[in-house]
Amino acid sequence: MALIVKKFGGTSVGTVDRIEAVADKLQQSRKNGDDVVVVVSAMSGETNRLVDLAHAIQEQPTPRELDVLLSTGEQVTIALLSMALEKRGCPARSYTGGQVHILTDTVHNKARIKDIDAARVRADLDAGRVVVIAGFQGVDEHGNITTLGRGGSDTTAVAMAAALKADECQIFTDVDGVYTTDPRVEPHARRLNKITFEEMLEMASLGSKVLQIRAVEFAGKYNVPLRVLSSFEEGEGTLITFEDEGMEEAKISGIAFNRDEAKLTILGVPDQPGIAYKILGPIAAANIEVDMIVQNIAEDTATDFTFTVHRNDYKRALAVLQATANETKAREVKGDNAIVKISLVGVGMRSHAGIASTMFEALAKEGINIRMISTSEIKISVVVDEKYLELGVRTLHEAFELAEKKPF
Ligand code: ASP
Ligand code: MG
Repeated sequence: MALIVKKFGGTSVGTVDRIEAVADKLQQSRKNGDDVVVVVSAMSGETNRLVDLAHAIQEQPTPRELDVLLSTGEQVTIALLSMALEKRGCPARSYTGGQVHILTDTVHNKARIKDIDAARVRADLDAGRVVVIAGFQGVDEHGNITTLGRGGSDTTAVAMAAALKADECQIFTDVDGVYTTDPRVEPHARRLNKITFEEMLEMASLGSKVLQIRAVEFAGKYNVPLRVLSSFEEGEGTLITFEDEGMEEAKISGIAFNRDEAKLTILGVPDQPGIAYKILGPIAAANIEVDMIVQNIAEDTATDFTFTVHRNDYKRALAVLQATANETKAREVKGDNAIVKISLVGVGMRSHAGIASTMFEALAKEGINIRMISTSEIKISVVVDEKYLELGVRTLHEAFELAEKKPF
């Protein structure tokens, strides 16, 4: 008998029929003898609908009131799901975040969970009930309703699992797991049975939007085994966990990519202490996030400096950089917003040599020019022209033999 926290996202509870289907699944888990805590999102589209309503009244909705409004979406699903369980003779109780003491900081619309008092949930479990909890919400120390940011129900589920020391936290969604890369780009992409927290963070932040990143961080920090699986099909899904012996003969777990990149270069800036700060200080002050940074070896007294930003920030960054160039008497500013980033991710890189050269060789064979390279312990990223995204991803998928191995 295990204690499992199960989270169902918006599409999984998007209609009455789907809520009934979730109740069937939960009833089955109870029959198998598991204790079950369920965290649910609002019905699909509901949170967006509420956001639109708020904007119809206020251009910048008052953050506190927006939270009061948005938290209602999840309150609808917890009640309906509990009714569906009760109808099946499966005792259940629903709670809002505040009712189970999900205590957060006071930052409305993107609050962080500080503490959970799991006593009430435990008492219900002991009494044989399924506990149904509204995701995405909590209360601050003054009793104000807060929400955790879009996609925050994942984090509620993980936090609840940590507080209850659950055996596993299962995230049911509309995909059946985490893939080696996006199947829309590479049809031979394969579902991974296991991936480490570290790898998942790289994959998630690079665009595999299966889970809220904060939920993965939280799970890693508190050692909560996390599983992503389909609401609609049977299957094991993907287990996100710590690295273990024999887990990875594979060197590479996956290929992430990001289409929304742009790069900027300032040429011929004086090479002197403080220049990186002079260039990036104003960019940070303009609230523009920088990803890769490359500075050249200086020739004589001047150097070149290149960095990447989100494509939405490209024009603003260019203007800021031009101002810096004028001020520092740099020679020239250049930019390119038709670039993408492709990254190989794998903890196996730590113990295998030659990954980078295999990567560069594969790209070279296809005539794909690499514009920038950056590496970390478990990741190698390259920036290439946008038109090479699909080709680049498929080429690397093949070079590292990530596709399903056919028996013949
Ligand atoms: N309902 C919220 C959203 O749409 C939270 C969640 O689904 O995780 O972002
Ligand atoms: Mg989600």
